[in-house]
Amino acid sequence: MIKMPYNDILEKIQEKSGLTEQEIKEKIDTKLKQLSGLISNEGAAHIVANELGVKLFDALGGKLQIKNILTGMRSVEVVGKVLRVFELREFNSKGRSGKVASFVIGDETGTIRIVMWGDQAENITKLKENIIVKVVGGYVRENQNGKEVHLNNMGKLIINPEGETIGEVKETSSGKRKKINQLNENDSNVEILGTIVQVFDPRFFEICPECNRRARLREDDFFCDTHGKVQPNYSFVLNLFLDDGTDNIRVVCFRNQALKLLDKTQEQMLEYKDSPEKFEEMKTELLGNIIKFVGRTTKNEMFDRLEFISQLVFPNPDPDDEIKVLNKELEETKAKKESMTEQVLDTKENDVQDTPNI
Ligand SMILES: [Zn+2]
Repeated sequence: MIKMPYNDILEKIQEKSGLTEQEIKEKIDTKLKQLSGLISNEGAAHIVANELGVKLFDALGGKLQIKNILTGMRSVEVVGKVLRVFELREFNSKGRSGKVASFVIGDETGTIRIVMWGDQAENITKLKENIIVKVVGGYVRENQNGKEVHLNNMGKLIINPEGETIGEVKETSSGKRKKINQLNENDSNVEILGTIVQVFDPRFFEICPECNRRARLREDDFFCDTHGKVQPNYSFVLNLFLDDGTDNIRVVCFRNQALKLLDKTQEQMLEYKDSPEKFEEMKTELLGNIIKFVGRTTKNEMFDRLEFISQLVFPNPDPDDEIKVLNKELEETKAKKESMTEQVLDTKENDVQDTPNI
């Protein structure tokens, strides 16, 4: 079943049936009582919608905005700008082997991860940040990282689709909020909020202009493993310490994350390469700022400490959003208590991330 939030279903029924919210809620309540204990609020709302002849998903069959993508949907078509590209992984579990690769796209309404299986995974080598892609024939799953559009051999990925543009991407956090002292090794898609208490000088390094991978100096020239001798571009990394009162952690911000945090362009940033002393002012400006990061943890073996790799940065977290996070946490606790059975099913579905999908 497609998972549409209860309030969205209510709104849709109201809009299409002309009934008042009160009338609809009464119908849902009656349904809940008839099927006492066998059905969730959402399930009852689905049945009421059906009885009233209200189609909840008329958007299917065309291009969807990211915010309208719902768990359980099939044949999803979506266009977005590539924001992050992850490496291809080969796996071998329970006698089955295969390939999987993923990337994140965004549009004006939000962001979502696209997961490609089997031969589709090879597409990952053609992807770069900021290009536009169209996903056709995807299906939507949900795991601990939130909603994902999965693509198997029935689907299609079109790179640079004709006539498609994307405006300013709305970066939304689907990360699970944690306190810094709750972070574990290999946490992914977690969100932390804290104050910057220390900032280090940015470090610059050479990258291949074609594939953005590290270019290495050999004698007098720079070489990319794939593209040979290149005239390198520069990338950089900025490290800082974030403190949220429970603990502090080193946060690692690579190029785009650093630019977003500092509100600088690539050109402005490169000025610090030649005159590092100018960065001192920037450090002073950053100290004491409250920042929200979404990312993953990694163990720094050399120093035997946990670090946080930023994948999304929110330099000015919205106080209203923070209140929503608190409310969501409360709701989630409530929902867990209400439906233990559903939870068990969800846990099983979560396994899909590491297993081939057939
Ligand atoms: Zn290269």
